[in-house]
Amino acid sequence: MQHRIIVLGAGYTGAIAAGRLARRLHRDDVAITLVNAEPDFVERVRMHQVAVGQDLRPRPFSEMFADTGVELRLAKVTAVDVDRRTVAVIDSDGRAGELAYDTLVYALGSGWNDQGVPGTAEHAYEIASRAGALRLRERLAGLDAGQPVVVVGGGLTGLEAAAEIAEARPDLAVALATRGRLGDWLSDKGRGHLHKVFGRLGITVHEHAAVTGVEADRVVTADGTAVPAAVTVWTTGFAVHPIARATTLEVTGTGQIVVDGTMRSVSHPDVYAIGDAAMAMGAGDKPLRMSCASGVPTAWQAADAIAARLTGGKLPNVPLRYFNQCISLGRRQGLIQYVTADDRAVSVALTGRIAAVYKELVCKGAAWGVAHPVVGLPTRRRRVVQQAARTTDPAAVKASA
Ligand SMILES: Cc1cc2nc3c(=O)[nH]c(=O)nc-3n(C[C@H](O)[C@H](O)[C@H](O)COP(=O)(O)OP(=O)(O)OC[C@H]3O[C@@H](n4cnc5c(N)ncnc54)[C@H](O)[C@@H]3O)c2cc1C
Repeated sequence: MQHRIIVLGAGYTGAIAAGRLARRLHRDDVAITLVNAEPDFVERVRMHQVAVGQDLRPRPFSEMFADTGVELRLAKVTAVDVDRRTVAVIDSDGRAGELAYDTLVYALGSGWNDQGVPGTAEHAYEIASRAGALRLRERLAGLDAGQPVVVVGGGLTGLEAAAEIAEARPDLAVALATRGRLGDWLSDKGRGHLHKVFGRLGITVHEHAAVTGVEADRVVTADGTAVPAAVTVWTTGFAVHPIARATTLEVTGTGQIVVDGTMRSVSHPDVYAIGDAAMAMGAGDKPLRMSCASGVPTAWQAADAIAARLTGGKLPNVPLRYFNQCISLGRRQGLIQYVTADDRAVSVALTGRIAAVYKELVCKGAAWGVAHPVVGLPTRRRRVVQQAARTTDPAAVKASA
């Protein structure tokens, strides 16, 4: 009997976890199914580029996972029943189905977070999804010279979006509204560079400007200021999909699945959660932020832990820590802010063109890792301990090894 592993979501983390599991476990012993709603990989970290009209290389999963031992199921996940160990899906032909698992890896990622601000759903544009980025692309293409675009949110995504739009469309009046000060978490060097590039790109910055309402042609801030906006781009963080919250899994108030150091659900030991969907602790016992940078190591950790538990091997201990924040500021400028293990800026930062190249290589590397799921580390496919294959109790797996 094969052990059925289902991976939900083929974003950065789900695709990497599925590939790594296929490399670690013997094909006769496991059936690995990767479920994703779309047929090709979406490079989410480049959605601001898509929004300004750049085309990304298509990366169909059917090619990426050919001959890997991972079965691809193109379907939308509609529900998970962690007590019956089933996943409800709607296949690409519209038919409803149900998949049963022994081990589940939940990697459905996140979408935009409108934070309930009035008017966002009706008037704002988002770049957390490809559909959103394409919608914004069409709108930006239709704007006339001089029209105002306001990016709301001064985090990494907001900075990248504002710079990308201002560089690609110097004829538009681009502004960024942020609650605090521009780049206030960066080092002096990093912040200085950010201010310089924003200045050169002609981006107007509204600091201490918490946006409390979005209308068709403006945003309104907490102090009543109205900022004209033909287009509002909303980038105030991400929110997870509601599927996990509807289960009996232990989740946080924001709906992320609470996991231990091996990415295993603290309430359901046959469920693992990775990437944006997981609430995992990093260095200094600080929750990891939703990012590729910390999400990919959670995928390695989960895959190696599942393989170890099934084969009676040693549990892995991938350090979940940060090294740097890689920020693109258009195609020609960048900022690599080095950070402590728990994500606090240190004084060292790389700036300018070299930083833009560095960031480009990071994005390419992440996509390469997804597109070559079974290349890289040496393949050591281990046999699953048969008697334990369908149990979720690690002690039993070990005992039978
Ligand atoms: C514009 C932008 C720039 C970013 N830049 C950076 C950066 O520079 N560095 C960094 O570290 N992070 C960055 N991020 C964050 C990063 O993209 C995410 O943290 C990362 O994508 C999370 O990976 P994931 O695998 O958890 O989720 P995702 O990559 O979102 O993958 C989730 C997958 O699940 C699928 N899915 C979702 N719901 C369903 C469903 N119901 N049924 C079936 N399939 C479903 C999706 O189609 C997708 O394939 C950026 C994000 C954005 C939007």
